[in-house]
Amino acid sequence: MAILPITLYGDKILRKKAIRISKVDAKILTLINDMFETMRNADGMGLAANQVGSHKSIFIYDLSSVKGFEKTKPMVFINPKIVEYSAETTVMEEGCLSLPGIRAKVERPVGIKLLYQDLDLNDHILEDDDLLARVIQHEYDHLQATFFTDRLDDEGKKMVKKPLQKIVSRKVEIEYPITDKGTM
Ligand code: ZN
Repeated sequence: MAILPITLYGDKILRKKAIRISKVDAKILTLINDMFETMRNADGMGLAANQVGSHKSIFIYDLSSVKGFEKTKPMVFINPKIVEYSAETTVMEEGCLSLPGIRAKVERPVGIKLLYQDLDLNDHILEDDDLLARVIQHEYDHLQATFFTDRLDDEGKKMVKKPLQKIVSRKVEIEYPITDKGTM
């Protein structure tokens, strides 16, 4: 296993939509193991493949360090697709390993219904209306080339403009490995 450098806002791969997987081979399994190691090293709750430089349609989460979710099993989602959103929305603060130092309140649907595949490419459905639904929407956004900051209102977008520019130019202190500017 290896800790991979995390892509940051400004890296082009984070603005490209993920590509579906048709076969889970040894390379993909290594990628997934590396994603878990990279996420845990950075104290993240979730991670999408393009955050470690891969175009594959994969995201993971591990909420076992979150109070109240210790028994929630770490999960891998392959070729995920959110097919239903609740009408009810809620506001929660979010952060992102690719947007270090930025936290903002984001409004999203409370509940979701997610179709995804496991490592054997068997189909599954997951429905949630709690923290999982929030993490899944955030990571799913990454695979759609979207950041949580894209979802802020005009005032919120104005607030994050300068911090985002600092991330692009790497003028931020980060305690985990990141990509060099212009390499992704
Ligand atoms: Zn993120």
